Amino acid sequence: VEYTDRIGYLSLVGTGPGSLDQITPAAKAALSQADAVIGYSLYVDLIRPLLRPGQIVEAWPITQEQQRAERAIALAHWGLNVAVISSGDCGIYAMAGLVLETLQAQGWDGQTPTVTSYPGISALQAAAARVGAPLMHDFCAISLSDLLTPWPVIEKRLQAAAEADFVIALYNPKSQKRTEQIAIAQRLVLQYRSPETPVAIVQSAYRPTETIVLTTLTDLLHHSIDMLTTVIIGNRTTQAYAGKMITPRGYSL
Ligand code: SAH
Repeated sequence: VEYTDRIGYLSLVGTGPGSLDQITPAAKAALSQADAVIGYSLYVDLIRPLLRPGQIVEAWPITQEQQRAERAIALAHWGLNVAVISSGDCGIYAMAGLVLETLQAQGWDGQTPTVTSYPGISALQAAAARVGAPLMHDFCAISLSDLLTPWPVIEKRLQAAAEADFVIALYNPKSQKRTEQIAIAQRLVLQYRSPETPVAIVQSAYRPTETIVLTTLTDLLHHSIDMLTTVIIGNRTTQAYAGKMITPRGYSL
């Protein structure tokens, strides 16, 4: 169906870690130009002050990502300018991939609708900024959620990252139902790194309920960790100093 002769426009917008001043001006402009804004309700609420009267706003429950992507594409096919929002960066454990995969499955020609991504500050960047400079050397992100990834694959990646001495940012570290994974991750990394390895636990970065804990690999489990938390595990050279986590870049001082 086509209701207008406009070519639809899909913007994939990363809204950053939480506070409105951590969103790029380009992402803000994309939001204000949208006819329709679609996202998980918690994230829609966070950016509600940026919306304007007359916009269609669809706040969806969590876990309905596929329906959200299909809905956004359908609205874009009607000729609307549709913004799909993700927290952090839209291309990191977020909606951008699902939207493009869905378009691919529909035989998209790459042009109709037009698709543009507006990157945002991802949780690992936000968390790192809050605790110093932990990502100064090679690092990786690993999500501990086995909802869409088989657990043995996650374990293999943890093991490889630990052995290769990457600084590791853990996304989705723990939920009410998933409590074992973070303990297994700790055990795996302890095979390669000292118990005193600095670890940062950053909860709700740049949101009013933000909490930041600097601890060690051995004490990691004694602190509150949930689905709004990013855990950063230092490499073999990472230091804790004056309340900051510092991974040496390699300069000799
Ligand atoms: N697209 C998002 C990631 C979504 S996955 C991004 O780029 O940041 C959701 C996970 O991100 C959470 O389980 C948590 O590990 C992390 N996260 C998202 N926002 C966060 C915040 N404000 N503070 C700490 N961690 C956060």
